[in-house]
Amino acid sequence: MEAITTEGTFFDGISARPRPVTLRLTFRLEIVGEDITRDWSLLDLRAADAAPPLMRINHAQGPESVEFADAPFAEALTARCPDLNRAEGGGGVTRLVLWSIAAGVSVLLTAIYGVPAASGLLAPLVPQAFEAQIGRSVDGQIVTLLDNPPLCNEAAARAVLDRLAARLTEGMALPVAPQVSVRRHKVANALALPGGRVILLSDIIAKARNGDELAGILAHEFGHVAARDPMRSVITAGGTSFLLSLVLGDLTGSTVLVTVGQAAISAGYSRDAERAADAYAVAAVKRAGGDGAALAAILERITDADHEKPDAISFLRSHPFTAERAARIRSLAGEKPAGPGILSEAEWTSLQGICPKQAKPEKSKPDEGKTRTEKL
Ligand SMILES: [Zn+2]
Repeated sequence: MEAITTEGTFFDGISARPRPVTLRLTFRLEIVGEDITRDWSLLDLRAADAAPPLMRINHAQGPESVEFADAPFAEALTARCPDLNRAEGGGGVTRLVLWSIAAGVSVLLTAIYGVPAASGLLAPLVPQAFEAQIGRSVDGQIVTLLDNPPLCNEAAARAVLDRLAARLTEGMALPVAPQVSVRRHKVANALALPGGRVILLSDIIAKARNGDELAGILAHEFGHVAARDPMRSVITAGGTSFLLSLVLGDLTGSTVLVTVGQAAISAGYSRDAERAADAYAVAAVKRAGGDGAALAAILERITDADHEKPDAISFLRSHPFTAERAARIRSLAGEKPAGPGILSEAEWTSLQGICPKQAKPEKSKPDEGKTRTEKL
């Protein structure tokens, strides 16, 4: 088979950084760039929304994607990839059609019952590839809203965090494998975004007194991912115009997305959604050998520190916490298990160093900032 090549851009789906790569198409798609080598099966390639001549290809099994603007290459790729335009989820075209109908119906439901009811119906039907794209966009907006806090990726700590995330999702029903990123920020918060993205702000690690507490927070966010709450809140925030843009297939060009990042960090989930995420967290932490009640302890501590300053990005705003929730978490958790907890002392110490001290903000504005930040 004739090999053709073009220049493109690679996105890891976690950071926003575009990386130049060379794409080589044979019976596989090889992607080569500085410290990137990928060899993707053509069966795994999925076309995402993009305005020609730009073509964006997502990998079906992960957050990575590539972009290029080369019409002959796009044509050859389209000819060689059987599933390029397949909707995720196995149902193919049927599912896409059903989903479009559902979206149309949801617009009507929105008019009759209001947005929250419609978004609840629609969220589980949004194809994974769409959701991944929305997640990427919301992630970028949040990073901008938070004034570009740097990513924290100290290698040993990152390995502990990845192992912890894997243990907290093992055997639990999740639509996607969560992708956790940590950013240096002086507000204790954690956010779940569409597409399984979870952002931990470093102050929440500083506020945690042990691995079980941080595991509780992380697992609570995974609980929101499991219930697809972030997608629901994005649809709610975008309203009817967002639903219409989904029906029309215009996502990237849609202006409604601009408001969504703000909404995703300031709007809270419903009490039922919080309870379900707590229940997920307690179950996941217990399964992994930790103390499920640790979540209540850290939430109480953050609540005490936060309640005098209703910051737009405070944990309280996005996850309203009450004494009733704390009691419920403790009753679900039961007795504290014997043993050292979910992480060893060495692992916990390592994880606390995920933001190396010398890291500088990408774009620093030390004295002024839109978001209020306080030393806690
Ligand atoms: Zn929550």
